[in-house]
Amino acid sequence: MQTQFSREQLRDPDYVSSNQVLRTCVHCGFCTATCPTFVLLGDELDSPRGRIYLMKEMLEKGTPATAETALHIDRCLGCFACMTTCPSGVHYRNLLEHGRTYIEATYQRSWQDRALRFVLANVLPRPGLFRLSLIGARLARPFVVPLLPRQFQLTRRLRAMLALAPARLPEAATQQRIYPPVGEKRGRVALLTGCAQPVLAPDINAATIRLLNRMGIEVVVPPEVVCCGALTQHMGRHADAMAAARKTIAAWHEEIEGDGLDAVVINTSGCGTSIKDYGFTFRNEAAPWPDRAAKVSALAVDITTYLERVGYRPARPPCGLRVAYHSACSLQHGQGITASPKNLLRMAGFTVTEPNESHLCCGSAGTYNMLQPDIAERLRERKLLAIGALHADVIATGNIGCLMQLSGTIPVVHTVQLLDYMAGGPAPPALRASLEETAA
Ligand code: SF4
Ligand code: SF4
Repeated sequence: MQTQFSREQLRDPDYVSSNQVLRTCVHCGFCTATCPTFVLLGDELDSPRGRIYLMKEMLEKGTPATAETALHIDRCLGCFACMTTCPSGVHYRNLLEHGRTYIEATYQRSWQDRALRFVLANVLPRPGLFRLSLIGARLARPFVVPLLPRQFQLTRRLRAMLALAPARLPEAATQQRIYPPVGEKRGRVALLTGCAQPVLAPDINAATIRLLNRMGIEVVVPPEVVCCGALTQHMGRHADAMAAARKTIAAWHEEIEGDGLDAVVINTSGCGTSIKDYGFTFRNEAAPWPDRAAKVSALAVDITTYLERVGYRPARPPCGLRVAYHSACSLQHGQGITASPKNLLRMAGFTVTEPNESHLCCGSAGTYNMLQPDIAERLRERKLLAIGALHADVIATGNIGCLMQLSGTIPVVHTVQLLDYMAGGPAPPALRASLEETAA
């Protein structure tokens, strides 16, 4: 695709990157077939190719984003199925990040939209505040939801936010800085515990730590690391995202320089995609950030990659559970990890199945299910229908967002909770009753 950026624009590294991405696209349209929003809405402007054109025009012109461009870019899930499909290697993610940041800086959203985005960007990355807001949402839900009409976008969004608050919040887990290995020490890793995950499902981090410790791995969780910046980046709030990422990099860098790290282990694949990209994100920042960010990115691994690397072995006999594996977009499209989780689950003795259209997003996508509840709900229903056909006992996935989005029918757990159980850990809370029944 030909581009027409000015010399002035091409002095900005973000424009240089977007220019390269745009020039790689040959507008063949192969990506449209696997784009969830195009599959649902059938509008070219809700396809990757259409969005690429919209962003090209917006960035080349250098004028404020139009309502039409903001609408179609906002509808993009950031699932990156298009990147997996594209035969030309178009790096849509880098272009989308530039486009979202540009829209956030130039487009005047309604006050309701701005207020909602402000709340999400400031509450979700703060676990204490997030916990309080979930308790408030749960208490308010029975009284407030009947008063919220369905015909307005704002009230539909509020309904979606209230619906996502779990009926029961698990106890908040106390967090140590260092979790020592059991037996001989074989390695040392940092674990990203995340911002929303410890509030919604603290057992995921507990299972990860238990499993790694049992394998002889020391786990360090620096208290300074809370949010990696992915959530705010998805909303185009680049400055907030960079501030969170800088704090995270600084804390892990201290560990790298101190007692050393073999890996930075991530069990929230949405965050993993961003952290693996830190090297690129910080490439033009002042020293020492590019070097530090690149080191962190080089050490970042998904928990399943790390477990394969250190040699996961189950300790229990197979329990006969049939697992529907839901491949989170951030894991399959963002990080290219497809086989490891399924291999590990099979090695642990589970029967592993995958739904039709496993490449399609479940609609979670960071804050998407709250900002675009209608599309998100259609994707959720479609995904649950495909999973239902598998007649599985449990859904396993590698991202807390998908876990929350798909909850409600059959139990949903994180892959690492099943692996920990089969390696001798306790049953995941969502499966405790059924596993105890099987064992009895
Ligand atoms: S498949 Fe790739 S090259 Fe073809 S239109 Fe989509 S992004 Fe462009
Ligand atoms: S990131 Fe997902 S929703 Fe967005 S254009 Fe690509 S495939 Fe479509």
